[in-house]
Amino acid sequence: MPPVPDEYHAVPSVGDGRPAIADIHGRCDALLASGWRRVEIAAQVTEGGEPLPIPAYLNSTSVDHVLIGGIHGREPAGAVALAAYADRLRELGGSRSILLLPLLNPWGYSRHLRYGPGGQSVSDSDHRLGRAPAPACAEAAAITTFVLDAVRINPGAAVLDLHEDPVYEAPDYRLDGHGSYLYVSGDGGLAHPVTQRVYRCLEASPFPLIKEGVTRFGERLVDGVIVDTEDGSIDELLAKKRACRPVITAEIVLHAETMPALPERVSTYLEVLDAFFGP
Ligand SMILES: [Zn+2]
Repeated sequence: MPPVPDEYHAVPSVGDGRPAIADIHGRCDALLASGWRRVEIAAQVTEGGEPLPIPAYLNSTSVDHVLIGGIHGREPAGAVALAAYADRLRELGGSRSILLLPLLNPWGYSRHLRYGPGGQSVSDSDHRLGRAPAPACAEAAAITTFVLDAVRINPGAAVLDLHEDPVYEAPDYRLDGHGSYLYVSGDGGLAHPVTQRVYRCLEASPFPLIKEGVTRFGERLVDGVIVDTEDGSIDELLAKKRACRPVITAEIVLHAETMPALPERVSTYLEVLDAFFGP
C-alpha cells in the first residue's frame, strides 16, 4: 500500500464510513477541558515516517472502569462508539473513575488490517501471563506496561473491550446466524450485574446473542457467552493480574465490511456502554 500523506487526518480508504483517526482522538480530547489527562502510550510509524499516536485518557490516578476499543483494525465500531460517547463520559466522570483506551491500533484501523505493523496483535499479553519470553511487538510491550505499571486499575474494576468478529476473513469458516456474542472473565463475572445488563442490552438489540456455535478460534458458545478463555488478550491479563471483574469482550459478527452497516453497529455499542455503566 503506498503511503497516504497525512494519514492521521485522512478518512481510511475502506469506505465503510469510519472517520479519520484524528476525529476519534479529537472527540476524546474534549475530555481534557473537564480535567481528564491524556497519556501517549506509544506510536505506530507509517511507511512515510508519520507517527500515529496511541493515547489513553483517564480522570483519576486509580480507576474502577476500563473501556477499550480498536485493538483489531477491521473492527471499527468500538473506537467510533467510544469517541461518540465522550460527552457522556464527561458526565459519568463526575462520579466514576475511568480509563479510556479508544483506539489501540490506529495503523490497522487506517489500513483495515487486523494487526499492527509487526503482524501481531497490538495488545498481546502472553509475555505478562508467563507464556512467552518476550512481547509480541513494540505496542504489546508498551500497552501491557501501561495498564499494569503506569496506571492503577483497582481490583474489581469493570472492563469493557469492544471488538467485532469479521468472519469474512476466514472464507472456510461458517457461523450460522447474525448477531453478537460475549467473552466474560473474572471471578463471578457471568453473574455480575454489569454483565447481566450488557447481556440483556444485546439481547434486545438488532444483534441478539448467538446462543450456540463455535467461533473461528475454536471456542464454544454457551448461551451466547465464552467464559474465562485463555487467549493471551489484554482482557485475560486484566482479569488475572488485576482481578478485574467483570471483564466483558463484546463481538458483533460481520459478514462483510458493511454487513451490517457501521452506524447500526455503533449505535448498538452506544447502548452497550449505557448498559455497562448502568443507571
Ligand atoms: Zn477483535
